[in-house]
Amino acid sequence: MSEIHTGGCQCGAIRFRITGVLEDSSICHCRMCQKAFGAYYAPLVNTRGAELVWTRGAPKHFQSSNHVRRGFCENCGTPLTYEAADGVAIAAGAFDDPGRVPPRIQFGVEGKLPFVDRLHALPARDTMDDIAAAPFLADIISYQHPDHETDNWDTDSWPKE
Ligand SMILES: [Zn+2]
Ligand SMILES: [Zn+2]
Repeated sequence: MSEIHTGGCQCGAIRFRITGVLEDSSICHCRMCQKAFGAYYAPLVNTRGAELVWTRGAPKHFQSSNHVRRGFCENCGTPLTYEAADGVAIAAGAFDDPGRVPPRIQFGVEGKLPFVDRLHALPARDTMDDIAAAPFLADIISYQHPDHETDNWDTDSWPKE
């Protein structure tokens, strides 16, 4: 059974398509993944056994160790890949539908931040509940690439030198 997964960076300069079944989805708590994602942990989907094609642009890379390099969009900064000898993993949040690739295992738990297991218990609010404190939300316009393939993408919103 063949599945198609698509996604890309926030600005849309880089897009990918994966053909195949993706079962190797994880989060990594290690300090290097925290830093690379600017986050408490990194959600990653390994594409081993599937076909990964960059359909628009391609990531720039930072060699984060002698065995691993990490891809990102040089235009908008979205973290996109973790690339090692065992294959290329894609940042789960970069998928057009991250809900289709739920994590199945945690790695690097020695680096897990102590509050991560309690995140679900934090007070929860909808974005628009904040409108009194952030009136700009009323007329906000997104420049983020939509969560589907596009033939062309208006680059006017991209950063200029
Ligand atoms: Zn981008
Ligand atoms: Zn890691």
